[in-house]
Amino acid sequence: MRTPVIAGNWKMYKTAREAGETIRLLCDLVADVSGVEIVVCPPFTALPAAVEAARGSRVAVGAQDCHWEKAGAFTGEVAVPMIAELGASHVIVGHSERRQYFGETDATVDKKVEAVLAAGLCPIACVGETLKEREAGQTLAVLERQVRDGLARHLGTRALVVAYEPVWAIGTGKTATPAQAQEVHAFLRKLTAKLAGQPVADGLRILYGGSVKPDTISALMAEPDVDGGLVGGASLDAASFAKICFCARAQKQ
Ligand code: PEP
Repeated sequence: MRTPVIAGNWKMYKTAREAGETIRLLCDLVADVSGVEIVVCPPFTALPAAVEAARGSRVAVGAQDCHWEKAGAFTGEVAVPMIAELGASHVIVGHSERRQYFGETDATVDKKVEAVLAAGLCPIACVGETLKEREAGQTLAVLERQVRDGLARHLGTRALVVAYEPVWAIGTGKTATPAQAQEVHAFLRKLTAKLAGQPVADGLRILYGGSVKPDTISALMAEPDVDGGLVGGASLDAASFAKICFCARAQKQ
C-alpha cells in the first residue's frame, strides 16, 4: 500500500506573508485529511514563513529547486543544507520549467537528487515529454532516458518520489486523460522493476502533474499506478488545494 502524496508547486507566486496566510488556511482545511502526505513548495524566500505556518499540522514544506553542492561560489543558488536548516522536508528536482528555461539536464537532476537524499530530505523528481516528443511517438523513450540518466542510481531510496509531468499539460489546462497517465505510470513502474527490482517498484510513489484540478484528480487517482499529484495553479488557492487532498484520500481508501 503506497501512501498518496499531494504536492503543491507554487512556482514564482506568493510573498512570505501571502504564503503564511495561505498555509494557515490550508492547515485548517486539511486538519482531518489522514492517509495523504500533503506538501507545499513555495519560493525560497517564503520557506521560513511557510514552515512556521505549517508547524504542528499535516502539511509539510518543500523547496522548488536546489544546487547539488553543499556550498561554494555559485551566485544566486541555494544549497540543500540551507533548505534543510529552515525545516523544509522536500525538494522538487528537474521540473520542466527548470529544464526548459534554466538548463536543467538529466545529469544535473541526478546530482541534485543525490544531494537532497544525502541531506535526509525527500526529492520529488520530475520527468515528462514535450508535445513534440509525444506527437513523434517518443514519449516512452524520452521517459526511459530521463529515468536511466537522472534517477536510476536513486530508485532504491524510499524517500524518492517521482512525478510524471507531461510538459504539454503544465499550465495549459490540458490534463492527460487518466488512461494516458496510467500508461506512463505503469511503464515507469515496470522500468523501475527492471532497474531496481520489483519491491522497489511496488513501493515507489509516482505522482501525476499537469493541470490537475479538484474535478480531475479523482479520475486520475482511480488509476492503479497513480499515487498522487503535483499541482501548480490549483495549489495556490487553499480551498481548491484542500479539495484535491480530500479527493485523493477518498479515491485511495
Ligand atoms: C507544475 O507546476 O508542476 C504543474 C503541474 O502546474 P499546473 O498544475 O499549473 O499545470
